[in-house]
Amino acid sequence: MTEHAVVIAGGGPTGLMLAGELALAGVDVAIVERRPNQELMGSRAGGLHSRTIEIFDMRGIADRFLSEGQIAQVTGFGGSRLDISDFPTRHPYGLGLWQNHIERIMAGWVDELRVKIYRAREVTGFTQDDRGVDVELADGKSLRAEYLVGCDGGRSVVRKAAGIEFPGWDPTTSNILAQVEMTEKPPLGIHRTALGMYSFGRLEYEIQGGVIVYKDVGPIGVMVPEADVGRATEPTLRDLSEALIAVCGTDYGVHSPTWISRFTDMARQAATYRDRRVLLAGDAAHVHSPVGGQGLNTGVQDAVNLGWKLAQVVKRTSNERLLDSYSAERHPVGARVLRKTMAQTALMRVDDRTEALRETVSELLSMDEPRKRFAAMMSGLGIHYDLGPGHPLLGHRVPDLDLVTANGPVRVFTLLHDARPVLLNLGEPGRFDITPWADRVQLIDGTYDGAWELPAIGPVSAPVAVLIRPDGYVAWVGDLTQVGLTEALTTWFGPPVTA
Ligand SMILES: Cc1cc2nc3c(=O)[nH]c(=O)nc-3n(C[C@H](O)[C@H](O)[C@H](O)COP(=O)(O)OP(=O)(O)OC[C@H]3O[C@@H](n4cnc5c(N)ncnc54)[C@H](O)[C@@H]3O)c2cc1C
Repeated sequence: MTEHAVVIAGGGPTGLMLAGELALAGVDVAIVERRPNQELMGSRAGGLHSRTIEIFDMRGIADRFLSEGQIAQVTGFGGSRLDISDFPTRHPYGLGLWQNHIERIMAGWVDELRVKIYRAREVTGFTQDDRGVDVELADGKSLRAEYLVGCDGGRSVVRKAAGIEFPGWDPTTSNILAQVEMTEKPPLGIHRTALGMYSFGRLEYEIQGGVIVYKDVGPIGVMVPEADVGRATEPTLRDLSEALIAVCGTDYGVHSPTWISRFTDMARQAATYRDRRVLLAGDAAHVHSPVGGQGLNTGVQDAVNLGWKLAQVVKRTSNERLLDSYSAERHPVGARVLRKTMAQTALMRVDDRTEALRETVSELLSMDEPRKRFAAMMSGLGIHYDLGPGHPLLGHRVPDLDLVTANGPVRVFTLLHDARPVLLNLGEPGRFDITPWADRVQLIDGTYDGAWELPAIGPVSAPVAVLIRPDGYVAWVGDLTQVGLTEALTTWFGPPVTA
């Protein structure tokens, strides 16, 4: 039986990110992916939020996305745009880029890292014992792994086979999404009716002065609500035509669909992200309405939280208890995404009272403090892991500062390209000795003269040292003492190794 340290079920954005993180750490990882190639039927995610761009920047690959997408102020809540151009980040914006391009770029990166992908193969189940997992495939073969991660989407076979509950809320709305040809020209853009919101657009567009300008040619993307919620069958051209006639009074001569799909506002979250040697990430762990564009971003960030922890456990530098911090940190983030997405779905309803409520929320969000708070949440820049009391940086993302070191200038994010932790000493050089962790943690002596500022929080006092996890979150903040450093190094990167 073929063996890998980690098998990932599903090579969508979450599985690809996780595979990249594990490969960077030198772990033998393989993806099992049902699709024969990375091509994606349907448009799905329309882009990246600021924190996800930062994450790609931390791995040295942000430019690959930025060069293909369109930078814009895309952060929003319940229909209100939230400008983040004043946020302290190198990327105070979002990026318009369709998911098929995002996946292609990620797959290229993973390919460079020589990750094995079993394509056109399907995980059908697994059995786990104390030492590993037998991953069953549809062709009758199986793979043996120390850990299996289900990144296999909302209908996750891994989640179901693990018996992990998926509680939540049934759908209240349903929309057909399609790419089609039309004999008549539909009104491009987003429209509201008493039956809900609908939109027409083209795949190719440019963002000019914050406004989407569609190309004149090419297939038309349609989103239209359907009256029946919870239909079990796949949507057809006839369903689309009927939904268009119900909402617009005409189907604009719709024909020749490239694809037709459906999405709802169903909101569900796995009760836990881990059952012993089996973990869940991305849509396998949480599903919700696409409003606010959180799904792909949350999945990629799940993967970055899990990757280094799983790598350390597989490499035996950390105890497997470290994996409990994955669920402890990411489950609350997912739960918050669900709640805020449900709130936005409610705000999108089309009736006079909801209209009045939306106006009220919009007024509130035009004030500076609420704007910053919500924009930090929706862009991912405000994510905070509860690592206990202390300096405001603790548990927050480290800012991408311009440092000066003995080897010249360097950005903090550049130090994270290999996904290795960093102890950044900004005080007197040479005052730290972390020899027992030298095989795992980089010690960087540097200086930084500027201000420290966090999105939505504002300026914070300059620390003398920070311990930065591979996912870019601050695990320890030092003042003139080194109190707590040994504990933090041991907690996050394993016990000291003595020569
Ligand atoms: C209309 C729409 C608009 C959206 N807009 C946004 C947006 O703007 N921003 C955003 O962040 N998110 C958005 N999303 C959500 C986003 O598309 C998902 O959250 C994202 O794709 C999740 O990635 P994933 O890798 O976790 O799961 P998926 O993308 O579902 O990938 C799962 C992968 O696993 C494979 N697979 C499944 N079962 C098996 C199996 N048994 N064996 C092997 N392989 C398997 C699948 O083929 C697939 O490649 C949108 C979604 C929709 C539907």
